[in-house]
Amino acid sequence: MEVVTNLNEIKSNIRQACEKSNRNPDEITIIGVTKYVTIERTEETINAGIKNLGENRLEGFLEKYNYIQDQASWHFIGTLQSRKVKEIIDKVDAIHSLDRKSLAKEINKRATTPMDCFVQVNVSGEESKHGLSPENVLSFISSLAIFENIRVVGLMTMAPHMENQEFLRDIFKKLTSLRDEVRSEQLAHAPCKYLSMGMSNDYQLAIEEGATHIRIGSKLVGSFK
Ligand SMILES: *Cc1c(COP(=O)(O)O)cnc(C)c1O
Repeated sequence: MEVVTNLNEIKSNIRQACEKSNRNPDEITIIGVTKYVTIERTEETINAGIKNLGENRLEGFLEKYNYIQDQASWHFIGTLQSRKVKEIIDKVDAIHSLDRKSLAKEINKRATTPMDCFVQVNVSGEESKHGLSPENVLSFISSLAIFENIRVVGLMTMAPHMENQEFLRDIFKKLTSLRDEVRSEQLAHAPCKYLSMGMSNDYQLAIEEGATHIRIGSKLVGSFK
């Protein structure tokens, strides 16, 4: 399936989810996750009109970035080892997986201008998932005030892969209320406006519950290599 065809379907689903929840589709940024696909397919994705791309591993990111460069804004969405920060810091526009102080320290040290970061939260409590426990998020974010090159623009979560809509909805609701809590603190280094949540299987629900950034791989570009 061509990316444009997939994108049209996704956009129509976004419009529906926005209508249901009284939101404006312009508030939603689609991040095309290209980790499964080739450079050709990534170029097709850009030509289809996607301006934001996401990669979850350093090698995959660098491979794509070498070709695509600044034709897209880049979001690093995967677990990031501190020693790899220096390789991505001047190439990505946002990091969605900030989950520990040592990583914040390294980003702060390597960045030359403030880096937009999403703090990753493990809302579902699954052991396999990275991210902070919800109860630690506020104090973690407060503790980042000392880092002049860290800007907490939002929160990110990955919901479990499952069909139970009410369970998923509850996860998204929890992240939204946590975001509201952080935002109400009015921290200068943490405007925390955004919610990076929703993937191929659950983006409509995530949008109904407030997502501003949805990360879509398989339903947009496919999952072949
Ligand atoms: C792979 C990945 C996605 C996209 O997954 P799909 O289900 O294929 O849409 C989104 N976010 C993260 C962090 C990922 O690793």
